[in-house]
Amino acid sequence: MSSMTLVESELDPRDAIYRCVVPAGEPWLHEIRKGEHLRIVDLEGNQAVDTLFYNADDPQERYSAVDTIRRQGSLYLNAGTQLISSEGNVMLTIVADTCGRHDTLGGACATESNTVRYALEKRFMHACRDNFCSELIRREEYGIAKRDIAPNINFFMNVPVTPDGKLTFEDGISAPGKYVEMRAEMDVIYLISNCPQLNNPCNAYNPTPIRLLIWDGQTT
Ligand SMILES: [Zn+2]
Repeated sequence: MSSMTLVESELDPRDAIYRCVVPAGEPWLHEIRKGEHLRIVDLEGNQAVDTLFYNADDPQERYSAVDTIRRQGSLYLNAGTQLISSEGNVMLTIVADTCGRHDTLGGACATESNTVRYALEKRFMHACRDNFCSELIRREEYGIAKRDIAPNINFFMNVPVTPDGKLTFEDGISAPGKYVEMRAEMDVIYLISNCPQLNNPCNAYNPTPIRLLIWDGQTT
């Protein structure tokens, strides 16, 4: 098991300039300005928060799981990880983390993968990919479309890699109130699917809400 570095934030929730609760199974899209901090709080524990982000000035530049893994030389994300773009630039930095491990290998759940992994009749269940697509259509002013949905981050999700290289979906290691916080290193369009998955233990078979907080650059 890789080392887990737990780092608490010094930011006070009372100073946040934005806060909201994203209900279980719902998407969220928001612009985060350079220097702002975004905190994602796992309110009830073991929720999976599927995440993508794009350069607000040029959405063709987006989060790259491959470049992030290569740059940090580690498969898991935690405090100190720089989240790298498809152009090799740092988009956000994880500055605080009380969970200790986040996944960027497992991908977002989709109706197609639900039928392959579980059962044919699961194809009608709501999935993260549906959330990404429907939110991008609803916010079409950003010009981001289905083709721009690339491998994502699953915050709070535990997908350990076995010694012989297999991916396994395991019970979460998060707990109520655990959070991850990142600082934007450029203006980004931040897209979340608060995972509605009911078929695997990534969210304890029970999707739950998350809280989001944003602080402006002056408070840091
Ligand atoms: Zn999902």
